[in-house]
Amino acid sequence: MNATQLATTANGKAVEELDVLVVGAGFAGLYQLDHLRKLGYNVKVFEAGSDIGGVWYWNCYPGARVDTYGPLYQFSSEELWRDWNYSELYPSWEELRAYFSHVDKKLGLSRDIRFNTRVTGAEFDTDRDQWVVQASDGSVTRAKFFVLCTGLAAKPYIPSIAGLKDFPSGRARTSALGFRFVG
Ligand SMILES: Cc1cc2nc3c(=O)[nH]c(=O)nc-3n(C[C@H](O)[C@H](O)[C@H](O)COP(=O)(O)OP(=O)(O)OC[C@H]3O[C@@H](n4cnc5c(N)ncnc54)[C@H](O)[C@@H]3O)c2cc1C
Repeated sequence: MNATQLATTANGKAVEELDVLVVGAGFAGLYQLDHLRKLGYNVKVFEAGSDIGGVWYWNCYPGARVDTYGPLYQFSSEELWRDWNYSELYPSWEELRAYFSHVDKKLGLSRDIRFNTRVTGAEFDTDRDQWVVQASDGSVTRAKFFVLCTGLAAKPYIPSIAGLKDFPSGRARTSALGFRFVG
């Protein structure tokens, strides 16, 4: 099946056309979204999780925090750092989430992010010079540029440990590295 056929067989849904499709709503993807929008591109981010933050959305186990100084672990534009201060030198995941909310409030990023949407495949349509991208919600999107900001630790790894399936799963989450923690 070629890319054009894929675009016309997606559950009868309309095919959205973009200038840029970015994958991932961590630091890298959010920067791309803001930067490319300001350059006038029609851009959307697809994110597998239900909120922004990337690794800081997925990693919320007790004690999770950065080991880089907080003043360095943030975007460098003045409109974002001017009225933001971490309360700790090495901020925790809770503060990182608050920071991402602050960034979202300032830049209005969420309106161009489709959450709970995992990109599952992509092909380049050489006839139209576009990427044809499939996602977990059955949608097909065409984009001139396809920018992968998927991080280095976003792929879950579930180790083969005896008794793992009996681990309490009430409000457990899986970290980006595949560990499950009960919140
Ligand atoms: C516990 C922890 C502590 C860290 N501490 C530091 C630190 O102190 N200093 C430092 O410099 N770095 C640190 N890092 C590294 C961290 O990965 C980077 O700092 C930074 O957050 C990476 O941002 P990113 O946008 O590149 O990727 P990520 O934040 O990983 O974001 C990638 C996003 O892509 C999404 N995604 C992936 N595949 C798909 C798909 N197919 N479809 C849709 N969405 C997808 C994921 O859901 C994820 O939200 C730490 C990482 C962890 C896990």
